Formats: sequence, C-alpha cells, structure tokens
Amino acid sequence: MIKISSVPAKAFILLFIFIGSIHFSFAQQKKIRVLVVTGGHGFDHKPFYDVFNAIPSITYDSLVQPQANALIASPQVNKYDVLVFYDMPDSISAAQQEAYIRLLKKGSSMIFLHHALVSYQDWPEFLQIVGGQYHTRPVVVNGDTLKANYEHDVSIPVKVEDKKHPVTRGIDDFEVVDEVYSDVEILPSIKPLLSTTHPKSMRYLAWVNHYGNSDVICIQLGHGPSCYINPDFRRLIQQAIEWSAKQSVK
Ligand SMILES: [Zn+2]
Repeated sequence: MIKISSVPAKAFILLFIFIGSIHFSFAQQKKIRVLVVTGGHGFDHKPFYDVFNAIPSITYDSLVQPQANALIASPQVNKYDVLVFYDMPDSISAAQQEAYIRLLKKGSSMIFLHHALVSYQDWPEFLQIVGGQYHTRPVVVNGDTLKANYEHDVSIPVKVEDKKHPVTRGIDDFEVVDEVYSDVEILPSIKPLLSTTHPKSMRYLAWVNHYGNSDVICIQLGHGPSCYINPDFRRLIQQAIEWSAKQSVK
C-alpha cells in the first residue's frame, strides 16, 4: 500500500523539480546580455555600475576602450543583445567604423550615454549614428556657430516629450541634478524622448535616432552619482535597454 502510493508521489516530485529547473534555466537564458563600454573619461565606478546591478532583467559585462572596439569588430560582439556606450574615445580604426555601421545596418542595439556624445570628433558618421554630437571645436550648423560647453551640478527640469514611447512610458516630468551640455548639434530627424527648458542646456536630453535598421538611443543625462541614484533616470536606463533589446536584430 505504502509503496504503491509513494511511486506517483515520487514521480510528481521529480516532475516538479524537472519543470522547475527548466523554468529556472529558461529565465536565466532570457536575461538581456548587455556590454557596458567605458574608457576615455573618468566616472564614479561603484554608483554607476549600481544602476545596472539594480536591473533584474539583464546580465552585463563591462569593457574599457580600446578593447571594446576590438571586440565590437569581432564575432564576439554577437554574445550581446545591447551595447551601452559610456565611453569617450578619440580614435577608431577604419575596420572598427565599418563594424559599427555593419551592426547598425543589420539592426543591432546601441545606447549612447552622456559623454559618449563627445566621442570620435574626427569620424563624421558618428553624428549620423548617434543623432547628435558635442563638438569640441566650434562648428557652423545651418548658419549658427555652435560652441559646445558644459556645467556641473545643475538642477535640470526634465520634460517627457513622448509619454507613450516604451522607453519613457510611466515616467512623469522630473528634476535631476546633473551636468548640462550646451550648443550640442542635434539632427532634426531624431525622435525626442526628453527635453528641458534650462537655458544652459541643449534642448533634447534623450532621443531615438534611426540609423541603418537600428533605433539608436541617446541619453545625455548621467554624469555622476546625483543622477545615477535618481529613480527616473534608473527607470529610463532600464526601459531603454529592455526596448532596445526587443528591437534588436542579430
Ligand atoms: Zn560628464
């Protein structure tokens, strides 16, 4: 009697463990794999990486330039669903430029944060990829001379331009203490997500720029801890990664 009843009970327990382990490994596999690229500009490491540590839907590796661009130009890049750039390098080889363009033509996901807007002053296509650029030398755009500048520790009123977009959905207008950039070139074709009326800041603080077959996201915010700990900034980064991963074609 005992043996007969215990067999289905054991089978049930084994089945339960089996299903549980499948579910567990499925959940593990489904995490978004992010590469966080840094290098070329200092930052406060622990509070910056805590932004990513707090996102349950991702796993991430971090890589410093120039190693990151070497990886991006190799098949190893296919390990990642989303590339997040928080770097500010000067130079990039012709082969690496081609790799960025090839990935974006395919539909790969790239997100550019804060000082990544200042990267690659001598690679004109970078402006077309990001949809904006902080030029370190004065440039004339549509007859206006842009002399980009910055100011730290500014209390910035942030307006959500598109409340229905998956990257900004659920985020109300907010305030953040962060660094502003002024006189940054922004392409008219970008789709604005965030803006500000702060007189010392560029107008748009986040946008989507279509390049190749990719929707590239640019977020100007993110200089230091006062921004990293802001819950609206954190939600923005999480939703940007999650939406970008969904759009990704690999
Ligand atoms: Zn900064």
